[in-house]
Amino acid sequence: MSRYRLALSPVQETALREHCAHARFVWNLCVEQEAEWRPGRGKMPRFAGRCRQLSEARAENPWLAAGSVIVQQQAIRDHDQAMANFFAGTHRRPSWRKAGRDEGFRVVAVRPGDVRRLNRKLAEVRVPKAGWVRFRLSRPVPEDVKSFRVTLDRAGRWHVAFAAIPDPVPGPGNGEVAGVDRGVAVSAALSTGETLNVPRLSPGRQQRLVRLQRKLARARKGSRRRGKVKLAVARLKGREADARKDWCEKVSTDLARRFDVIRVEDLKIGNMTRSARGTIEQPGRNVQAKAGLNREIARSGWGLLVARLEQKAPGRVEKVNPAYTSQRCSACGHVDAKARESQAVFACTACGSAANADVNAARNIAAGHAVTARGGSGLPGPVNREPQPVLLPAA
Ligand SMILES: [Zn+2]
Repeated sequence: MSRYRLALSPVQETALREHCAHARFVWNLCVEQEAEWRPGRGKMPRFAGRCRQLSEARAENPWLAAGSVIVQQQAIRDHDQAMANFFAGTHRRPSWRKAGRDEGFRVVAVRPGDVRRLNRKLAEVRVPKAGWVRFRLSRPVPEDVKSFRVTLDRAGRWHVAFAAIPDPVPGPGNGEVAGVDRGVAVSAALSTGETLNVPRLSPGRQQRLVRLQRKLARARKGSRRRGKVKLAVARLKGREADARKDWCEKVSTDLARRFDVIRVEDLKIGNMTRSARGTIEQPGRNVQAKAGLNREIARSGWGLLVARLEQKAPGRVEKVNPAYTSQRCSACGHVDAKARESQAVFACTACGSAANADVNAARNIAAGHAVTARGGSGLPGPVNREPQPVLLPAA
C-alpha cells in the first residue's frame, strides 16, 4: 500500500468530509442491522441485498442521495469483508465507527486516466463529487490502480492510498528455510539468530508523548487546549505507525529475497487480541498482563508483516502450529515449560543448551515440527502461546 499526502482546497475538504460521513453512516447501519439479528429471524442480507436497501435509503434521504453511490456501496462492501473476516476467526466483529476517529472512504472502478502526474512533485486523482484532488508525489504511483482509499487521521492529515498488491520477490532458489518468531522483547526473531525490532519513538519523543498524555487527561473536555494537545499526541502516534509500516515493507522484502521458504506461527491474532477480558461466565485471567501483551502484538505489526510476506513470497510462506514452540529445545527436542528461564533465555533442562528464547522458538518454527496440541503424550500444557478459542456468538 503506497500512501500519499493530499493537498486539498477548502471546497474539496468539505466534499471529502461528506464522503467520510456517508461511508460511516452506511457502515454503522450495517453494524446496527447485524446487532439486531436474532436466531430465527432469517438470513442477514449480504452485499447485493444491502445495495438494494441503500437505493431505497437514498430515495428517501436527500442528504444521502447527494453523495457518491460508489463511496456508499464500498462502505457496504468493506463491512461485508469485515464480517467475513470475523467469521473466519481472524478479526474482531466490526464495530461502530465514530466521527473524528474513523474518517475515510474507498473508491473503486478507477480508470487508467483517473490518476495523472502533474510534475515532479505533484500528481492528482479524480475523486467522485470532488473532482481532481492533488497529492504530493513522494514516490511513484503504482501502475494499474484499481481502487484507492482516502483517510483523515487524528492528526488532521489527509492521505490517499492506492491498493496495489506488491510484486512477488524472487527467492534465492537454494532451498534455504527461515523460521520467524514474533515476540514482545524482540519483534521478530529469525532461526538464523538475527533479532529484528520495529522502530519505536526515540526516548525523547516517548517522554514527550507521556507528558502530552498527562496534559490531555487534565485538559477540560471541549476546550481549545485539549484539541491542541490531542493533535500533538496523534502526530506522535502517527509517526510511530508510519515507521512500523515502513519496517514491515523492508523486512518482508528482505526475507522474501533471502529465503525460499519462510515459516511463521499460525496465530490468529484477532483471537489473541480479543480474549484478554474473557466472558462474564469465565472472566479472563491475567487480564492486565494479557492486555499489555495484546497491545504489544498490535504495535509490533505482526499481522501486516505476514500479509506482506504472503504477497511478496506467494506459495513460499508456511504456517506452523505454534504449540510448544517456546517450550521445546531446538537442539534436542525436549519439551519443558520450566526451560523458559526468563522472558529472554531458553535453557534446556535435558541437554543443557541455552539460547535466546525467541531464536530458539524461531528454530522450532523453521523445523516445522511443533507438536500438535491434541497429542496428550504427557507433555506439559502450553503456557503462553496457545491461541484462545474463538468467541463466536452462540448460534
Ligand atoms: Zn535440549
